[in-house]
Amino acid sequence: MAVRTSRRSFLKQSSLLMAGTAAGSLTALGVDLNTRRAMATELRIRDAQAYPSICPYCAVGCGTLIHVEDGQIVNIEGNPESPVNVGTLCPKGAATFQLHVNPNRITHVLHRDPGATDWEVWDLDRAMDRIAELVKETRDETFVEEWTGPDDEGNEITKTVNYTPAIFTLGGATMANEWNHIHQKLMRGLGVVAIENQARI
Ligand code: SF4
Repeated sequence: MAVRTSRRSFLKQSSLLMAGTAAGSLTALGVDLNTRRAMATELRIRDAQAYPSICPYCAVGCGTLIHVEDGQIVNIEGNPESPVNVGTLCPKGAATFQLHVNPNRITHVLHRDPGATDWEVWDLDRAMDRIAELVKETRDETFVEEWTGPDDEGNEITKTVNYTPAIFTLGGATMANEWNHIHQKLMRGLGVVAIENQARI
């Protein structure tokens, strides 16, 4: 009688068979794979100093170990001592190394005028001045000092509100807690009420 198997199960069985055959062949040749794997890991971080940190991507807060050698990050992996993730990381967290060491990482300010097709490199001071100018302009134009409306009994009342509904701000999980704390204090001081953080999205 013909044995029916699904495509998925066929592929799974084939890949297991191939992996087993390859490993078996190497073992038959006297190659100890476990030792090789341990050596590869050890060589990569052998002279590095490990610093515990937190994955910057989401609010789960998985613990990481950052390996640094000669002032350079050489590896980032899950921290087995973290009670949150016990050494594991999701694909995003596992790619944290590329946040730091990546030739495609943009390290200067790019500005594009409305309607323009090309980006222009700005120095940081110029960009900060322009952002401050736009924030002040927007806040001045939209600032609401008082709200007038009915109270619970239907009587018209006026309340001081001091806010702007025209600015939204987004903190980033790749910034330090201290930075995000000061950032939201500044925004509240300006009267911004739409305050969010990337880690909660
Ligand atoms: S992005 Fe992934 S690794 Fe990072 S904290 Fe969230 S769940 Fe953990």
